[in-house]
Amino acid sequence: MKSLTRKTQYQKRLETMEKRWEDLCIRCGGCCGAFDDPCVYLRKGKDNRYSCSIYPHRLGERVTVAGEKFDCVQLRKIINTHWKNDHLCVYKKILRMPWILEEEA
Ligand code: SF4
Ligand code: SF4
Repeated sequence: MKSLTRKTQYQKRLETMEKRWEDLCIRCGGCCGAFDDPCVYLRKGKDNRYSCSIYPHRLGERVTVAGEKFDCVQLRKIINTHWKNDHLCVYKKILRMPWILEEEA
C-alpha cells in the first residue's frame, strides 16, 4: 500500500483531533437555548440529548421559538458569554479546569 504523504497524515490527525474534541460535547443543548428559548433548529433525541437539524449549515442568522433573532456562531466565539445552565457545558469546564482533559486521555 502506498504510504500517506505528510500532508495527508497531518490532515487525518487534524480530523481525528477535531472529532475527539467534538465528541466531548454532552449535547445538553444549553448553548442553543435548550433551557430557556431554544433555536428553532434544536432537536431533542430519544436519549434526551440535543442536536442541530441543520448542523453543516448552522452558522448565520437564526431565530428562537419565541421569535428572537440571533447569530449562530462557532462555540469558541461565545465560550466566554453566559447562558442558562452553562455550568453543564463541558468546554466551559475545560476552560476553567484544563487538567480534566489530561484525565480523560
Ligand atoms: S442553528 Fe445554531 S443555535 Fe440553532 S440549533 Fe443549530 S447550532 Fe444550535
Ligand atoms: S453547552 Fe456545551 S456541552 Fe452543552 S451542547 Fe453546547 S457545547 Fe455541548
